[in-house]
Amino acid sequence: MTKSKQLLILGGTTEARELAERLASNPQLEIVYSLAGRTREPEFPPAETRLGGFGGAEGLETYLREQGIGLVIDATHPFAANVSRHAREACAKAGLPRLTLTRPAWRPEPGDNWTEVGDTAEAAGLVRKNYRRVFVTLGRLELDAFAGIPEVWFLVRMIEPGATPAPLANWEQVLQRGPFDREAEKELMTRHGIEALVAKNSGGRATYGKIEAARALGLPIVILRRPPPEPGETVESVEEAEAWVSAHLGA
Ligand code: NAP
Repeated sequence: MTKSKQLLILGGTTEARELAERLASNPQLEIVYSLAGRTREPEFPPAETRLGGFGGAEGLETYLREQGIGLVIDATHPFAANVSRHAREACAKAGLPRLTLTRPAWRPEPGDNWTEVGDTAEAAGLVRKNYRRVFVTLGRLELDAFAGIPEVWFLVRMIEPGATPAPLANWEQVLQRGPFDREAEKELMTRHGIEALVAKNSGGRATYGKIEAARALGLPIVILRRPPPEPGETVESVEEAEAWVSAHLGA
């Protein structure tokens, strides 16, 4: 049998966890699953897990060398641009194969009312001008841009309560962990009299319910464009990522 290889999966997404679950039984692989450590109670795959940053690209390069990592899959969220840049730089320096697993972006359908924006400041400007009751599905750290708009009421969804309240004047929090289905999302938006949704173009099934619900209710969406992806080999499905691993194991 071929010697086993250590695979580092940079995670934090449904797809990363699914990949780790599917590869867990491969005897040629030792998997290390890495999370930033932002969520107090993350969902772990059946693999060795490490939590917390590496200390930039340099720290990651050192980690890769010290741990004898042979393959890296960057399966982080499409908006997690820093860790992806560090992964590209560190793998290039350490001479390691790196694959990006990312889900395809969502696309508007005919009749959808989407406004694409480049950042949260632009989103906040549009919200202030046009809406009074808004459902915001961004991370707590991204709410600052909406801080100075007391005339707008925000429904904010988080996985768990934050250490500090959201920096908003007028808001209510709903604590929920995905996946979210269309009907439940419709009910939530209707119950709160939502006029518009602010969301990232995350892609994937797990959080698509809000997009479908907004479509069904005829609500506008202010959607944040993705940061540019890192160059390099990229796949859009867990199956393709599995095939990439097999090819690198010589299977
Ligand atoms: P980011 O800005 O790209 O990363 C900030 C720093 O967090 C990185 O420089 C790195 O620290 C550390 N980090 C990020 N992901 C890591 C991982 N998987 N393992 C170890 N360290 C990691 O990322 P972010 O937007 O804050 O997202 C943090 C994590 O949450 C990511 O893993 C991502 O997959 C997940 N997530 C993000 C979003 C989103 O909308 N951004 C949504 C859902 C899930 P060092 O430089 O010290 O190594």
